[in-house]
Amino acid sequence: MNEQWLNLYRTEIEEFYKKTRAFAAGDLSRKDYKGASGGFGSYAQRDGTKHMLRLRLPGGRLTEPRLQFLARIAGKYDIAPLKLTTCETIQLHNLTPDLLPVLMEQAAYCDIITRGGGGDNPRNVMASPLTGVQTGEAFDVMPWAEAASNYLLSICRDIHMPRKLKVAFCNGVDDCVHATFRDMGFIAQADGTFRLYIAGGLGNNHRMGVLVEEHLPASDVLYAIRAMIDVFCAHGNYENRAKARTRYLQETLGAEELCRVYREALAARKAEGGLDLNLTPKAVTKTGEGTLEDVRVIAQKQPGLYAVAYHPIGGILPTGKPTELAALLREMPAAECRVAPHETIYIINLTADEARRILAATEDGAKTLFETSVACIGAAICQQGVRDSQAALQACVKAVREAGIPDGALPKVCISGCPSSCSGHQAGAIGFQGCVKPVPGGKPAPAFRMFLNGNDALGAEQFGEVMGFVYEDQLPALLVELGQAAAAAGQDWQSWHTTHGEELKTILAKYL
Ligand code: SF4
Repeated sequence: MNEQWLNLYRTEIEEFYKKTRAFAAGDLSRKDYKGASGGFGSYAQRDGTKHMLRLRLPGGRLTEPRLQFLARIAGKYDIAPLKLTTCETIQLHNLTPDLLPVLMEQAAYCDIITRGGGGDNPRNVMASPLTGVQTGEAFDVMPWAEAASNYLLSICRDIHMPRKLKVAFCNGVDDCVHATFRDMGFIAQADGTFRLYIAGGLGNNHRMGVLVEEHLPASDVLYAIRAMIDVFCAHGNYENRAKARTRYLQETLGAEELCRVYREALAARKAEGGLDLNLTPKAVTKTGEGTLEDVRVIAQKQPGLYAVAYHPIGGILPTGKPTELAALLREMPAAECRVAPHETIYIINLTADEARRILAATEDGAKTLFETSVACIGAAICQQGVRDSQAALQACVKAVREAGIPDGALPKVCISGCPSSCSGHQAGAIGFQGCVKPVPGGKPAPAFRMFLNGNDALGAEQFGEVMGFVYEDQLPALLVELGQAAAAAGQDWQSWHTTHGEELKTILAKYL
């Protein structure tokens, strides 16, 4: 962002800090503070005395200066937890009010802008995490994700949308960013254009997006974004926040009319001009070397270069890990960290020897597919939460380890603490959403609503089917029994659950 924008941002941080102090002193209500803090990527946690700050990382890029910043502040202020999120950001938790402006200010010097990271703003723009290095991709979408992010930040003070707007770029092979069901999802095509889906999203009334462009020229991406914002502002619901996200436009306008008004807005913005993009992806010039095979290693499209996947359990990055990674990466030219929506960090552009060193430094992460499961921060911290999804995941991982369930017998599961779907549970092979379950003649008990057979693979997207409610304290036992059944049949989860429908039903009936 330019210096003028940043100077104004620094003034805004001072104003925000005044509001934070007013809230801490009890002079500002929780609701009013939430309205102000969201625009700065922050919220007061459940207990009201500690705060969260969300670091926007466009395209999930944890570049060297950003990683150095994270390493420095995590160690200096002993920040925990550091939470990787499904929007490719990192949340800093349990912050004191006085630390917020300090971190915001320092972050801005390291190319991290927290402005607009929450509230009714354009959120962190996402990109397929391995774009630029992934075999089979249509093209590297990172330059477009970063240009979109800069553009949205530049206009975020001037627009007043009914709710937030999430934008994602898929490289044509890996849609873990859920481009087909975001507010706006751009999917790279082999001919250099984008397929564009709009008005999709998870949460209540989750919807697949509407295909509005088959071949959007890459130069027109900002026009498309501006047009969608125009449509959202003109037709979105400012009266009822529960129905304000773009996906409700599918109901109020209908898919056909939605496409028509979008195209009309696009034509108007194009006639106005000034938003053409002329971008060229940056080539990786590092020379590869050596060979390496490991379940956590991905061979890049650049011969002899590798990416390493590191998934801290629950997406909780140990406080000392950024320092460790920063020290290692300093000696590895062109290496970079990418935060993925499934709460994994990829370290890319490594020779085989470098990848071995990163593997050794990240051995504390997930050891099985099940341990790569996704959980939001949950109700212990999040004000909106109904269930403590982090605690639920930790209990399940412990139980599955103790039961000796082999790798592959259980899939990656997604656990959200409430219907807001921050883990993307509707798109998980198995998903859980925090809720309560009625107890005959008694008080409703803590529970999770179970979803089965969601899929976010490009071309095979589907939302999971609701199976019923499982009591919170029975969740680990349910997963253990499912894993044991698949293991006993000598199959992985995918093949077992498609071939053992009756056995699956019998197990579920015991718990749901
Ligand atoms: S799903 Fe609910 S509990 Fe979890 S982070 Fe989102 S809003 Fe909070």
